[in-house]
Amino acid sequence: MLFDTHVHLNVKQFDEDREEVIKRAKEAGVTHMVIVGFDHETIPRAIKLAEENENFYAAVGWHPVDAIDFTEKELAWLEELASHPKVVALGEMGLDYHWDKSPKAIQKEVFRKQIQLARKVNLPIIIHNREATEDIMTILQEENAADVGGIMHCYNDSAEYVPAFIGMNFYISLGGPVSFKNATLPKEVAKMVPADRLLIETDCPFLAPHPKRGKRNEPAYAALIAEKIAELREVPVEDIASITKENADRLFRLND
Ligand SMILES: [Zn+2]
Ligand SMILES: [Zn+2]
Repeated sequence: MLFDTHVHLNVKQFDEDREEVIKRAKEAGVTHMVIVGFDHETIPRAIKLAEENENFYAAVGWHPVDAIDFTEKELAWLEELASHPKVVALGEMGLDYHWDKSPKAIQKEVFRKQIQLARKVNLPIIIHNREATEDIMTILQEENAADVGGIMHCYNDSAEYVPAFIGMNFYISLGGPVSFKNATLPKEVAKMVPADRLLIETDCPFLAPHPKRGKRNEPAYAALIAEKIAELREVPVEDIASITKENADRLFRLND
């Protein structure tokens, strides 16, 4: 049994064959997943997919690239959705300095507002970080994000930051890049993350793992990521599957 903690089955890249993709995931043992909505279109679809499928859950948030479109109206909408029984986290949210659609100051403000909302509704948060580690760290500290904790999604930083994020009550989620031949950072991270803080995600349709690199990613490939992490940590893949599933259940409070 595998838990893919970050999928975008709600995007148009899956419109043609979504049901087959879900079937392949189940055949590969990927029984649990969180579908992440990040804008007007993908949020309702994430909730619908979670409602229609057993063991599928939703996360709702506003992507930093689109921070410029976020108003009080979207904030109120997220608050309303937070009480839906299948919504287990807020996000993805964070900072993305790679794209410049939204100025940094606006991204920071929208990130802070979503953390404040998460603390108000008491849900963990899913963090998207691209080229913004120092600012992410500062904002998480200033906004007391440790009160809710959450996930550093598709973790792509060096291992040296891992203890600080864990200290703030975050889990480290590894995706396809851990399997890329030339990727040294995520491999180091895969070896050193404490077992009780490790998660697996595909972030599909993006970042397909080796040997599917460059193709459309899908939840079934979470199995390839689990295999790679098991190889790096020199443990059986079943162990990686069970600890990451337990971790996800604990974080999303699915046992309560
Ligand atoms: Zn992301
Ligand atoms: Zn994502």
